[in-house]
Amino acid sequence: MTLASVNPVDGKVLATFESTTDADVEVALARAVETFRVWRRVPFAERAARMNAAADVLEADKDRFARMMTLEMGKPIGAAVAEVEKCAWACRYYAENAEAFLDSEPAATDASRSFVRFDPLGPVLAVMPWNFPFWQVFRFAAPALMAGNVGLLKHASNVPQCALAIAEVFERAGLPKGAFQSLLVGTAKVAELIRDPRVAAVTLTGSEGAGVSVGQTAGSEIKKAVLELGGSDPFLVLPSADVEKAASTAVTARTINNGQSCIAAKRFIVHAAVYEEFTRRFVDGMAALRVGDPLDPATDVGPLATRAIRDELAAQVTRSVVAGARLLLGGAPPEGPGNFYPPTVLAGPPPGSPAREEELFGPVASLFRVESVDEAIALANEGTFGLGASAWTNDDGETERLTREIEAGSVFVNGMVKSDPRLPFGGIKRSGFGRELAAFGIREFVNVKTVWIA
Ligand code: NAP
Repeated sequence: MTLASVNPVDGKVLATFESTTDADVEVALARAVETFRVWRRVPFAERAARMNAAADVLEADKDRFARMMTLEMGKPIGAAVAEVEKCAWACRYYAENAEAFLDSEPAATDASRSFVRFDPLGPVLAVMPWNFPFWQVFRFAAPALMAGNVGLLKHASNVPQCALAIAEVFERAGLPKGAFQSLLVGTAKVAELIRDPRVAAVTLTGSEGAGVSVGQTAGSEIKKAVLELGGSDPFLVLPSADVEKAASTAVTARTINNGQSCIAAKRFIVHAAVYEEFTRRFVDGMAALRVGDPLDPATDVGPLATRAIRDELAAQVTRSVVAGARLLLGGAPPEGPGNFYPPTVLAGPPPGSPAREEELFGPVASLFRVESVDEAIALANEGTFGLGASAWTNDDGETERLTREIEAGSVFVNGMVKSDPRLPFGGIKRSGFGRELAAFGIREFVNVKTVWIA
């Protein structure tokens, strides 16, 4: 099998790579096990030195890595540079905090001494998506490696250059070769890898379908899994909100990463008292975005990562309009090369339509008008996802209610949902389970071991 790196701006093939052979996968698995035996005993201070060195490599080469991402999957270059910097931040954060997060916890019992220790599990398989090709990997790898595990990466097939570059970062940082290895394999190989007795656990960031498949295999092997899946995050605007700020943030929250973010706001639920004003400001903001070459720093929205993703998005919009959604902006892909799709706004997608029921992975927003806070919360909680939510209000009672009643892995009040190494990240319902980042993230892939000494 050959993996191709294709520029989404013009469809030109940038590079091709032969997939990792079965024999080389075997070598990688053996090396992972061997390295784990040594790496788990390396003191935290030494692991931290290597992780800080990885941050140094990222920072030193951030322009090269950013350009690689932009060429391979189309994200605007400024955002790509920021992504590399965020990866360095995560490396430094876990270099500094891992030891404290995994410090043994004493417990007073009938023993003379009893406590909980956190031991690494072994080789962890990471199945990762293309949308934040560096960040998704580092937010798994930095805590997992600091905990003493080793990583095996199966990256999305359209970002092989990023996959290899990340392995290069850890190698240049002086980690042993088997601590983090990139396998250029297709999805067919994933179940086999999960079933391999040398693989201790699996983490997936990706779509619901992939989550079902990975979760089933991990379940059948009784192996720990973390699933970070899709979302259709609500963005609630209530009468006391700063509507101007809400609308300008809404534009960013919907179109960040060309609209291809799991935690992008996708459903805008707006109270009738501020609906007209919000809609006007929001549509104006979306219309003013510059669509174009993502290497141009002036571009706000680049092309979607692949032609298939664009075609699916276009079909979802068309079906939503046919079902009764009103088109306020955009709605059709331009002629010509590249996977471009214009910023698009739909109003009132009815139940059953894709814009209401499914995740739309591109710069397409859906507006909903509601008459009360009750209705806003009910609509926010409708559907199968539960990743993040953004709520805009200046009423303390509403803030308390919204943070308690919205069913999601995070609620951000008067701000857009974003990941931060210091805060746990993950979803509920069909957005997945498990958490990444903060202390919760590093404790996912450890054995929480009880020790009792008479
Ligand atoms: P995807 O198609 O599910 O791919 C993600 C990864 O899973 C890729 O490495 C892919 O490999 C692999 N994969 C796909 N189907 C599989 C299967 N049946 N068994 C095993 N592995 C499989 O998702 P995507 O289109 O790349 O990413 C977009 C999705 O990820 C969206 O739904 C988005 O919301 C979600 N996401 C979630 C988070 C989060 O933290 N919750 C973050 C980012 C993205 P191939 O590339 O070889 O197909």
